[in-house]
Order: sequence, then structure tokens, then C-alpha cells
Amino acid sequence: MANQSVRSVCPYCGVGCGIVMQVEQNKVVKVTGDKDHPTNFGRLCTKGTTCGQAIAESGRMEHAYVRQARDHDPVRIAMDKAISETAGRLRHILDTHGPDALAFYVSGQMSLESQYLINKLAKGFVRTSNIESNSRLCMASAGSGYKLSLGATARRGLMKILTAPTCSS
Ligand code: SF4
Repeated sequence: MANQSVRSVCPYCGVGCGIVMQVEQNKVVKVTGDKDHPTNFGRLCTKGTTCGQAIAESGRMEHAYVRQARDHDPVRIAMDKAISETAGRLRHILDTHGPDALAFYVSGQMSLESQYLINKLAKGFVRTSNIESNSRLCMASAGSGYKLSLGATARRGLMKILTAPTCSS
């Protein structure tokens, strides 16, 4: 990929600030606020400004691993095999112990499409009601802090009060 600017949306919180990524040799080297985006008009909080670091050399796992038993070391395997293995193990738990033996802990930073799919999987297919996301856990402490420091906990209202993007979730 040639060096280029790519417009996108900050992946972190629901405010949805517009970003512009400078991409060099297929790597994001800099992120700035999108001056033309109606949500933030070029402004970004610290998380948005540094979101490129999570993509470029973040140290995240880049391959699939599986443990043949709980006390075994993880062994690298091909992604399609890891997916089949995971599906087989989930199917076994479901068939053996029923839907409430499975629980999903997901992320408020997932796209709307991903949220739809995981909820469809959990509630519509597996039929468990055990689904939660980091949004509640994260915002419980933030909400307490907002109430104590600013006197209100409504996140959207606070975002308007604070005006500049400063969200911490
Ligand atoms: S407020 Fe910060 S974390 Fe949220 S979308 Fe905007 S830049 Fe990203």
C-alpha cells in the first residue's frame, strides 16, 4: 500500500470522533482528528490521539493457539483449526450442560454489526441470557466519579457539558 491518509472513526468509545490515519508502508504512523467530521471537528482526546498504537506493533497475539488440556501449554495452530476446535468445545459444553453453562463477556467498543452478531449468537442461537460487556463495568466507576465531581451521571449529558472529547470508556 502506498503512503496515504485514511479517514475513519476512533475505535474507543461511543462518541465516534472522526480520525485521519497517516499510513506508510501498510502501517499507521500517525492519527489526527478529522477537521471535517461533525462529531469532533478535529479534536481528539488522548485515547483517540494514540489509537494508532494499538494497531501498529501493539504486542497483541497475531496467531491462534490452543491448549489440548487445561494444564498444557498453548500450542500454535492454524486459524481455521482453532475456530473448529473452539466451536466443537462450545458445542460439547452446550450439549452437556445447557445454554446457561455458557456466558459471553464482550466489548462496548465493538461495531454495531459485531454487537448484533454476538447478541444473535448468545440469545438467539445459544439461548443464554448470560451476556455482559465491559461498558457496564467501566462506566460504573466513571459514573460514580461523575456524580461525585460534577453532580450528574448521564454520560451523554456530561459529554455536552464537557464539550471537548474527554471520554474515558
Ligand atoms: S471521545 Fe476520545 S475515545 Fe471517544 S471517540 Fe472521541 S477521541 Fe475516541
